[in-house]
This record gives sequence, C-alpha cells and structure tokens, in this order.
Amino acid sequence: MTNNMWDEIRQQLQETIGANNYSTWIEPLEFSGIADGVAKFWVPTQFFGNWIRRNFADQIKHHLNTTGIAITRVEFAVAKHTPAKGPAATKPATPKPLAREIGASLDSHFTFDSFVVGKPNELAHAAAKRVSEGGPVTFNPLFLYGGVGLGKTHLMHAIAHDLKKHQPDLNVIYLSAEQFMYSFVQALRDRKMMDFKHMFRSVDVLMVDDVQFIAGKDSTQEEFFHTFNALVDQNKQIIISADRAPGEIMKLEERIKSRLQCGLVVDLHPTDYELRLGILQQKVEYYRNQYKGLVLADGILEFLAHRISSNIRVLEGALTRLFAFASLVGREITLELTQDCLADILRASDRKITIGEIQRKVSEHYNIRLSDMIGPRRMRTLARPRQIAMYLAKQLTSRSLPEIGRHFGGRDHTTVIHGIRKITELKELDSQISEDLELLRRSLEA
Ligand code: ADP
Ligand code: MG
Repeated sequence: MTNNMWDEIRQQLQETIGANNYSTWIEPLEFSGIADGVAKFWVPTQFFGNWIRRNFADQIKHHLNTTGIAITRVEFAVAKHTPAKGPAATKPATPKPLAREIGASLDSHFTFDSFVVGKPNELAHAAAKRVSEGGPVTFNPLFLYGGVGLGKTHLMHAIAHDLKKHQPDLNVIYLSAEQFMYSFVQALRDRKMMDFKHMFRSVDVLMVDDVQFIAGKDSTQEEFFHTFNALVDQNKQIIISADRAPGEIMKLEERIKSRLQCGLVVDLHPTDYELRLGILQQKVEYYRNQYKGLVLADGILEFLAHRISSNIRVLEGALTRLFAFASLVGREITLELTQDCLADILRASDRKITIGEIQRKVSEHYNIRLSDMIGPRRMRTLARPRQIAMYLAKQLTSRSLPEIGRHFGGRDHTTVIHGIRKITELKELDSQISEDLELLRRSLEA
C-alpha cells in the first residue's frame, strides 16, 4: 500500500467515523507496512493502541479490504522511536497545550423557566432545583437518569445557568462523558496529565452528562473515579446523568456503581399525555409569535400529544416541522395537514394499538358483545359504541378510513366518516360521552 492509498482510506474513514474521532484517533496513526496479510501501524501510547484496536480496527480493516488490499488483520504497536519519515523525524512535535477551557457550552434555552413540570419529572425537577440553589451539599452526587429525550440535559444546563447567575465566582463545569474521555486521552497523548488532574480537581460543581458512555472504557473509568472521589472528598457538588440506573450500566466497575448510588438517584419517567400537552402548549406560544397569522385548528395539540409518545425531542421536532410547513404553504394547520406533514413521525411512534383491542375495550365498557360491534344490527345501544370505537380507531391508530371500515364488518368508509363526525359532535355536547372517551383512551394507552 502506498501512502497515497492510505490517505485515500483515511478520507473514507473520516466520513464514516466523523471528524472528531478522526482527528483524535486516525490522524496520529502512522502507517508502518504490510506483511503476511497484516497491516501495521504505529501508535503514540499503549492506551491509544488498545482503544483503537477495540473501536476502529474492524473499520480500518474493512476499508483496506474494499480498496483492494487483502489483509486479515491490523496491528498497532507503540512507536518506540520517532518514525523515520515526516517532519517529526527532525523536530519532535511540540505537545499541544491542553485546552484551558474545559467543559461544553450551555444551551441558553435550557432553563428552569422553559422546563415544563409534570408527574413524570417532578422529582428530578425538584432535586435539580435544590442543587441549583447552591446551598450546602446534601446529596452527592445527584444522579439523574431516564430514556433519551426526557430532559436530562435540559435540567443539567438549567442548574448550571442558575448557579452561574447567582454565584458567578463558582467554577461550574458541564461536559459529556465523551468529552471527558477526549480531554483525558488528549492529556495522555500530550503528556499533560498533571494539568488534567489539576483542572478537574479545581472545579466547584462538576456535571457529567451521559456517563454510560464510559462503560467499558477502562482507563477513562479509572480516571473518572479518581476525579469523582477527589471532588466528593472536598465536598464539591457532582451531578451525573445516564440513560439508566447506576446498577444497570453494564461494564461499569462495581466501585463506581456503588459510589454513584451514594447520593440521590432520581429518574425521569416516560412522558404522560398531560406533560406532552403542556410542553406543546408552551412551544406553541413561542411559534405564535414567530409565525404570526398562522391558524391552528382545535384539537391538533391534543392529537399530537396522544399520538407522539416516544420522547420530547421528537415531539418538538414534529411541531417545528408542522409550523414551518404550514407557513410555507400558507394554510391553516388542520388535522389533515398534520397527518400529511408528519406521516413518517406518526407511523414511527405508532403505539400499535390495534383496532381489535379498541373494539374489545369498547364492547366491555358498554357491556355489549364483540360480535355486535362488528355485526349488522343498527339499534342505538350498539351503534353508539361502534361509532366510538371507530372514532378511537381513527385517533389512536394510523389505519385509513377504508381499513377501519373493513374491521367493522366490511362497512363503507363513508359510514366510518359519519360515525367519527357524530362522535366529534357529541363529545362537545354530552359530558358522559367525553368522559367515556377519555377513560377508554387512557386504558388503551396504558
Ligand atoms: P435528554 O438529555 O434526556 O436526552 P434533553 O434534555 O436533551 O433530553 O431534552 C430533549 C428536548 O426536549 C430538549 O429540546 C428539551 O428542551 C426538551 N424538553 C425535555 N423535557 C422538557 C420539559 N419538561 N419541558 C420542556 N422541554 C423539555
Ligand atoms: Mg442528553
């Protein structure tokens, strides 16, 4: 393989693994040669070699193979001497100074003011609020966990904003576990470990986001553990987030797990309907200012809060797209436009409630036989529950009207439309019906 070919392969690698990974891991690699089907590279340190072997060896091999270089293995060895070629041969590279600025920047929108509190997140919110007051450290660390897009990062930034505002002298550092690892690796590479340790140990409040990232990365874990202990010993506040509880993070050392559990562990639960609606209402206020004159039909937010239950990021994305689209085409935001514009999102977050389930629940609720739900009899005591089931099928599934009709004994789609319209009207007039609908929806979504 010529150096030119390696350059080309490096290009491809940059595209697959991203610029950050590329500059940290691939750029420092020095191609050494190929012998007996083994491609050899020089690496700066043992740690570096282990890491790249575990994380990128397969991809490097793959790209070599697809470029027509038949190798069975890649090997990494620590360069004992400065490689013979290149400018480094004459002049040792000056180690880059470790970035003075550790920590990531904060999103100015992620404040307590913009955080909508509901049942699923009230505990996490209360704990975050307490920490943000910066009083005596009562629980250390504060460990926030929950699924993606539920507000962990938002809460951490909110804490940082408040602390910085009320106590500007405090050294508050927020960063992701991934960034922690990068600065650690860079410090190793540039032989700046003393600086690194000093920097992290002089922090007053340390926040590390998505700590599950360091699971399985042994040296990073080790360093994290020492940093953590040093700060706790000095009674400095630590705030950690992860996508699951400390005990459930695989490949995380036991001693780290137990230290993480020493403080307060709170979880953010999956959103419920009320919280989703609250968040949508808050966002809509913002959009109303931005897109003046845009009309939002009644029931759209409720529809979105019902149908998109995956996470808040998806919910926000849906609303953003909806408003942008409606303003582009200059149309009112109706249910139809919403379904059109968000078809992919709605499909993806379909909770897979089936029409069969709806029919079963509704017949139980009204105490009628399931066969009558589907059958031809048209008396009011049967027709009304049937229409309710049709209405719920339209609301809670992504089935088309003809499909719904087919599930109700092969009825025509115009019958379905009529049924849905009837219930939409009655819902406003008859509180019993609107209560029934709410109850049924809840039990179906549970
Ligand atoms: P996580 O870090 O848990 O994956 P984020 O904090 O990044 O999730 O939240 C995803 C998005 O949802 C962000 O835009 C955030 O502002 C928003 N969000 C999450 N929870 C709330 C909430 N309770 N109120 C308002 N917005 C929220
Ligand atoms: Mg996050």
